[in-house]
Formats: sequence, structure tokens, C-alpha cells
Amino acid sequence: MSPDTFRLALGAWLALSVLVVLSLQVNVAPYGRHTRPGWGPTLPARAAWILMELPAVVVPAVVFAASDRHADPSAWAALALWEAHYLHRTLVYPLRMRPGAQVMPLSVMMMALVTNLVFDGLVAWDLFHAGPARGEAWLSEPRFWLGTAIFAVGMVTNRVHDGILRALRRPGERGYHVPEGGLFRWVSAPNYLGELVGWTGFALATASPAAWCFLAWSAANLAPRAVQHHRWYQRTFPDYPPERRALVPWLL
Ligand code: NDP
Repeated sequence: MSPDTFRLALGAWLALSVLVVLSLQVNVAPYGRHTRPGWGPTLPARAAWILMELPAVVVPAVVFAASDRHADPSAWAALALWEAHYLHRTLVYPLRMRPGAQVMPLSVMMMALVTNLVFDGLVAWDLFHAGPARGEAWLSEPRFWLGTAIFAVGMVTNRVHDGILRALRRPGERGYHVPEGGLFRWVSAPNYLGELVGWTGFALATASPAAWCFLAWSAANLAPRAVQHHRWYQRTFPDYPPERRALVPWLL
């Protein structure tokens, strides 16, 4: 891919993120509590998550393997951060779901799979081909360590709150409860907040324009969904804590 084509692809990605934010003001992604008829056949949520997230594990690993950065410790570090998150998201997260109860429309799974293929490919292309090889010196940069620390805090926050949500249901149960504990005291979607903080750290640590686009894309999807979850909680539970915000304590 030429540098011009790559820049164009990143521009198109950002434009698509803006369209997604606008579209999610009137549409709700139809999975989880927002599932509704009209989106075609479904498959078990566990299988859907594994299939749609698989490109996030495989594509960057393949792009790295095909690159000439094998002796660059900063490329290994970027790959390690990425895979640390996506091995968990692709294998551990779905396998820890309560089996059998949840489903996802095949169409949603396919859309996520295709966007993961393309966008994770762009991030990997930037990290391992298009962007500068940063070498060992990069690993001593404060920016790298600050970004890595923010990444770790964000992803731990994400997992802890995904864990709180998972523990709300008994085996086989499908219903919803008001989550309590941790950052649920302040926001309805601390798992999304953690995810976004984590990708902010990744973009800082790698200084990759594509990683910043990935953050923008994630925010375009997760911020509107956090607001939709929040409104759903308020409609569904009349005594829902009034001080709780959707995504950012005291602000949003
Ligand atoms: P949700 O918070 O909607 O749901 C997470 C899990 O908890 C689901 O299994 C859900 O069940 C269950 N759950 C949620 N709330 C309750 C409740 N009140 N009572 C009982 N069970 C509950 O997250 P998503 O499914 O949207 O996302 C899962 C993970 O993937 C998150 O960590 C998120 O950050 C990440 N993600 C990242 C994206 C990105 O762009 N980087 C995009 C989308 C997700 P059910 O499915 O039945 O609602």
C-alpha cells in the first residue's frame, strides 16, 4: 500500500467513525439488551465473539510476521500489548460467558468481523510497515511507559467491570440487574470507559496515527452505546441511582 493510499484509508476510517456516531444517535446496535427482531438469524454469543474477534488476533500477528521488524523491540512491544488484550477478548472473555443463554445476530457478527479485518489490518500495517521503526530507544521514552501504564490501567478496569457484569447472572439466567461496585458507583458503562482509556494508552505508547484512528473508532461505537445502556437502565429500573452518569464520571 502506498503512503498516499494509506493516508486516504485512515481519512476514510475517521470519516466512517463520524458517520457511525451520527447513525448511532438514531439506531442502536442490535445485540445484547438492544437485540430486536429483523436482523436475521442469530448464533450463540460465545461463538459470535470468538469468530468476530479472531481477526484481531490473527491479522496483526501475520502482518508482523511478514514484516522486516523482527529485530525491533518496540515492534514486539506493540504486538505484545495488542495481543495481550485481544487474546483475552477473543478466547478468555467468550469462554467465561454464561453458556447457552445469549445470542447475537449473524449480520452483526459479520459486520464486526469485516471491520475488524480491515481496521486491525490498518493498525498493524502502520505499526509494522508504514510507520517508522522506532527501535530499542523508544522503549526508554517516557511516552512509551506512560502509554503502557495507561493501557494497563484501562484494560484492567475493562476486565474488572466485565467481571462484575458477568457475576450478576446465575447460570442460564437472561435478565438484567443493576450493577454495583467499582466504577459502577459513578457510571453505567465502566467496562467501556476502561476500554477507551486502554486504547488511549496504546495510541500514546505506539505514537501510531492508525492507533489514534482505532481509538476514535472505538469511541464512536462505545460512547453512544454507553448512553443507550444508561437510558435503558433509567427506563427499566425506576430507582436507578440518579447520580450515575453513562460513561464519564460527573460529565457524560
Ligand atoms: P455490555 O456491557 O453490554 O455486556 C457485557 C456482558 O455483560 C454481556 O454478556 C451482557 O449480557 C452482560 N450484562 C451487561 N449488563 C448486564 C446487567 N445489567 N445485568 C446482567 N448482565 C449484564 O458490553 P458489550 O457486550 O457491548 O461488550 C463486551 C466487551 O467488548 C466490553 O468489554 C467492551 O468494552 C468490548 N467492546 C469493544 C468494542 C470496541 O470498539 N473496542 C466494541 C464493542 C465491545 P447481554 O449480552 O445479554 O446484554
